[in-house]
Amino acid sequence: MTLSIKPKIMIWLAGLLISLALPAWSKEPPKVLTSIKPLQLIAASITEGVTSADVLLPPGASPHSHSMKPSDARKLYEADIIFWVGPDMETFLEKTLSGSKKAVSVPLMQESKLKLLKSSEGKEEVHDHHEGENEHHHGEYDAHIWLSPNNAIAMAKTMSEKLSKLDPEHKKQYKENYKSFKKSVQAADKLNNTKLTKFHDQPMFVFHDAYGYLQKHYKLNVVDYFTINPEQQPGAKHLTRLQEKLKKAGNSCVFREPQFQPAYIDRITGGTDASVAVLDPLATDIAVSPDGYNQFINGLVENIITCLKN
Ligand SMILES: [Zn+2]
Repeated sequence: MTLSIKPKIMIWLAGLLISLALPAWSKEPPKVLTSIKPLQLIAASITEGVTSADVLLPPGASPHSHSMKPSDARKLYEADIIFWVGPDMETFLEKTLSGSKKAVSVPLMQESKLKLLKSSEGKEEVHDHHEGENEHHHGEYDAHIWLSPNNAIAMAKTMSEKLSKLDPEHKKQYKENYKSFKKSVQAADKLNNTKLTKFHDQPMFVFHDAYGYLQKHYKLNVVDYFTINPEQQPGAKHLTRLQEKLKKAGNSCVFREPQFQPAYIDRITGGTDASVAVLDPLATDIAVSPDGYNQFINGLVENIITCLKN
């Protein structure tokens, strides 16, 4: 009978050791994961001085069409909290996250107080719809929420609150970080607003339907976009109509995205007065730092102005 007591003691001892070690473990700051780079930039300013924020999507990958890789699964498994846009954007995360018990899942589109724009999916002219081909599932609202500085501030607030709950020890720091994020975004935004006032009427065309928030916020004249889903070729009818609009617009700008260089853009802009420039809604080349989000928006504004003033 003594044999059965021994394992019990071992288990008890192990339990004691774990409970003694736990307070030390819990002091470790949470492992923060974000889905896409722009969210990582916002999170980096909130976690400054406490921990860092990792990102799931590799550079150049599109959240619209990404599928899970083994390395993604490892990052997800190790995370304590994950900030993502929501099922309307990172479709690949929806199922995975509902099955994961460890990480706190924060779909910001649902959990932050955002001003949402209706999605343009309803615009008939954009796609020649084919039954069953549309894997790109879009919801009622535009999910490119990070392209509004005000929404970025609201998301930063949610991040700060969620992190404080998970890691109360650093609550003060998260709150301070949020305050300084808000202040610096508002200051940069004021400057960008002033810079753009001269360009409100200048016609511009964008590659995919991602810029609704930026357009509204800075009162830009986005005449049209090439496609809803960057991975899909726009319909022939839509391209013909775009070409007509481009000709009518005269001196305008067409913004493609660094990950996509489809031949139809050159084909359609050829023979018009449009210049072609680049906008990256995923902040691929922006260094991760507490000021990264501002650098991202400033860069977009800079690229828009440089092209429009020609
Ligand atoms: Zn998009």
